Amino acid sequence: MRILLIEDEAALARPLAEHLEADHHIVEWFQTLGEADSAIRALEYDVVLLDLQLPDGDGLAFLSQLRDHHLRTPVIILTARDKISDRIDGLNRGADDYVIKPFDLDEVKARIHTVCRRSADQLAQTLTLRDLTLNLSSQSVSRAGVPVRLTAKEWSILEVLLRRKSQIVSKETLETAIYAYGDEVESNALEAHISRLRAKLGRDLIVTHRGMGYTLTP
Ligand code: CA
Repeated sequence: MRILLIEDEAALARPLAEHLEADHHIVEWFQTLGEADSAIRALEYDVVLLDLQLPDGDGLAFLSQLRDHHLRTPVIILTARDKISDRIDGLNRGADDYVIKPFDLDEVKARIHTVCRRSADQLAQTLTLRDLTLNLSSQSVSRAGVPVRLTAKEWSILEVLLRRKSQIVSKETLETAIYAYGDEVESNALEAHISRLRAKLGRDLIVTHRGMGYTLTP
């Protein structure tokens, strides 16, 4: 794994980096948020270990910025401040876990494995097509990183189309997906939902095959 370590105290960072490298990880260690920020824009990391008090700023503000830019890399906070408010604040801002200093090196290693496994599970919870991402666990949709609000029926249509993205999906299949058993199906309702989906996600997204059904643009 490629690990970004942001910690200004060399006495803490050095042994941790060595311990993780001995475990065959690649560790890039920076002592300022400025350097870490350039690194994370240039390269992909599997996990970020983040101290909260850095010489050039606050680790929590840095974390908020990452999440605002839709960077989903797992973040583990390294904190000396074992006040409960800091931990809650960190988790609210999108941290995946935290360890309290002074930490046990094996404990940090175990936390890294846990958050990375969790993040791999979350990836399995998404359906994607080019820049379109549908997250099944959070029930959210985004295109090019921008969240899009869908109604429950629009969501169901998109999910069916994404699950069968190489096939033409018939009107009947989509109607079954959006109506509960016994509901009266209104004529043209499906077309109305599809047209709203196009308005929200781009006109080019869904192709109509007359008399056959719909597909997503490959
Ligand atoms: Ca520090």
